[in-house]
Amino acid sequence: MDKLKIIFLGTGSAIPTKKRNHSAVLLQYRGENILMDCGEGTQRQFRIAGLNPCKLTRILISHWHADHVLGLPGLLQTLMLNGYNKTLKIYGPKGTKRMMELYMGLFVHKGNKVKVEVNEINSGRFVDEEDFFIESEEMEHDAPCLAYRFNVKERKRIDKKKLERLNLKGKVVGELVKGKVVKIDGKRIDGRKLIYTEKGRKVVFVMDTRVNSRVEKFAKNADLMICEATYSSDREDLAEEYMHLTTGQACRIAKKAGVKKLYLTHFSQRHGNNSKEILKEARRIFRSSFVAEDFDEVEV
Ligand SMILES: [Zn+2]
Ligand SMILES: [Zn+2]
Repeated sequence: MDKLKIIFLGTGSAIPTKKRNHSAVLLQYRGENILMDCGEGTQRQFRIAGLNPCKLTRILISHWHADHVLGLPGLLQTLMLNGYNKTLKIYGPKGTKRMMELYMGLFVHKGNKVKVEVNEINSGRFVDEEDFFIESEEMEHDAPCLAYRFNVKERKRIDKKKLERLNLKGKVVGELVKGKVVKIDGKRIDGRKLIYTEKGRKVVFVMDTRVNSRVEKFAKNADLMICEATYSSDREDLAEEYMHLTTGQACRIAKKAGVKKLYLTHFSQRHGNNSKEILKEARRIFRSSFVAEDFDEVEV
């Protein structure tokens, strides 16, 4: 199975703390390095984590609140100074094109700029590659805001060990890989018996939202759900007022959606200080809950 790795680069919210930077999560899968949001200081988090920002392929923006995007100008400048030579694909909700123009306009540098391709998206599938696709869904927040879902496609694979044991070479191997039946020295070998199905995988990102009717469906059966939990469970009043989730609300959504693992993030500065308490609160409702800390890594 190809490695799918998540690295938390920022697990705080509007105001950073000593331990928690603003929102950012990196997803690595095969050659892809996809950054989910880019709060202020994200590029420094890359350095601390020993990651090279020039490997970035795409940036997904949940919404244009400062704590999710202020790191973009600095990161783009670093890419420029380091001779980033790909086209960086950026996706975000309505208004993203105008905001990107504004952000790119902050550069006073002469010469080359990083090539970016900016895509404004609504809900639905917007990236479809051979082995994965990415979808988005509209959330409810006080700015146009999207949740994202990264899907590894289910696929057929050949059992290499079984194939090696047969000790075959040449054209027949190709036939077997296609699932065909071949005859060698009178012996019948069925390619289908060498093939197995590798299940798809789903990672869902809900960076900012209040409780809404779409989030549970969007997170359905996800292998990993990364979800904001700005406030403690007893502050549903604040969550309603500022259009966020509490620990309890996030856990109930994950439980109903049947996700395998829930990583909570985007903690308010006071609430985020007490990870142990948050974890206790979360696991009372949903046992597969985790409290994300900056630089935590998870493999899916
Ligand atoms: Zn936020
Ligand atoms: Zn927000």
